[in-house]
Amino acid sequence: MKERDHKIFAPEDEPTKDSEVFYNEKMLHNRDLSEIAARVFKQKVDIEEFTTLDAFSASGIRGFRYADFSEHLFLNDTNPEAIESIEEGLKANDIEGEKVEISNKNANILMSENRNRFHFIDIDPFGSFLEFLDSTVRTSNHTSFVGLTATDNSVASGSYKKACIRRYNSTPLKNSFMHETGLRIYIKEVFQNYARFDKCFDPKICWNERHYSRVMGRVTESKKRTNRTLENIGYLSFCRECRWRKLERKQECGNCGNEDLEIAGPLWTGKIIDQRFTGEMLEEMPEEWEDSYEMLEKLDSEAEILTPFYDLHELCSNMKIQVPKREEVIKAIREKGYPVSRTHFSPTGFRTDAPIEDIKKMIEQVAE
Ligand code: SAM
Repeated sequence: MKERDHKIFAPEDEPTKDSEVFYNEKMLHNRDLSEIAARVFKQKVDIEEFTTLDAFSASGIRGFRYADFSEHLFLNDTNPEAIESIEEGLKANDIEGEKVEISNKNANILMSENRNRFHFIDIDPFGSFLEFLDSTVRTSNHTSFVGLTATDNSVASGSYKKACIRRYNSTPLKNSFMHETGLRIYIKEVFQNYARFDKCFDPKICWNERHYSRVMGRVTESKKRTNRTLENIGYLSFCRECRWRKLERKQECGNCGNEDLEIAGPLWTGKIIDQRFTGEMLEEMPEEWEDSYEMLEKLDSEAEILTPFYDLHELCSNMKIQVPKREEVIKAIREKGYPVSRTHFSPTGFRTDAPIEDIKKMIEQVAE
């Protein structure tokens, strides 16, 4: 098999946790965005001997894609069959043996043995990244870039509230924008773990797709910066009566006055995407990577709008009206002078900082 010109040695059948060697072609966007984000980071920092860790390599595909811009490359997996695939892949892809180290260890052990070592770290386990977060922090250099995948979205997005409180020490919220709340819980968790070690984690590009979420950001060693950034840890208030939402802890709804608000958090209340960073990623990503390019464009377009996204169908059901075309609603909001965009979270969603009463008025006008 091949992915973006890199040869891979893995079974072609539907991947499961028990596959001989795990390769999921549906994670292509995750790998495309991760590669481009790491390339952009590398261009921005002046690091000699750029050292990359693909801690959960499986077939090795991520590592193969990172080889090009890494002076040292570590590939690791606990599965011995994965190690054979990695070795085969390195040869088939002509990746210089000298710069590569392969290991067959628990990622926690490998990372604990290599403190402050890596400039780019890819954490792509089955399930949650939580079990590996402490050692990820330890293995980060004073300037690093980190990407973490989580596939326990049903927990962080509110289907298993108690499990979320237990694992992430945070209350989730089950509603139309639950995946954004879940993503913000993940970012909070990563930020706080770095903060414990006086390191600051700044999210650069974070997203959710199908069953997984991905948090990618830059790590710097600075107590001052970490203290300032602590302001971005807070709560989210949601009114189920009128669908008003705010990234603050409130006693009553800012729209209808309802005092029975639902509160989620603690979670990340800051931006989840840095538009300067995604702008550079758009320059770096080949336009021929069509779906991934389109996804990156969406992420870039919603970067500056902070309010959690609205689902048009849900708002219309709340207003008991027919659903108008989303593009027309977006156009009407834009013409009123409010920032507005589509959102990568949902094909029926949109993002705006406009007050909800104005959004509803504009939807009504468009629906007439
Ligand atoms: N990164 C791969 C990709 O993009 O195709 C997929 C990785 S797959 C989701 C997770 C991999 O982690 C599996 O190959 C599994 O054998 C390995 N693994 C599971 N537990 C591990 C651990 N504690 N340390 C290192 N590898 C582990």
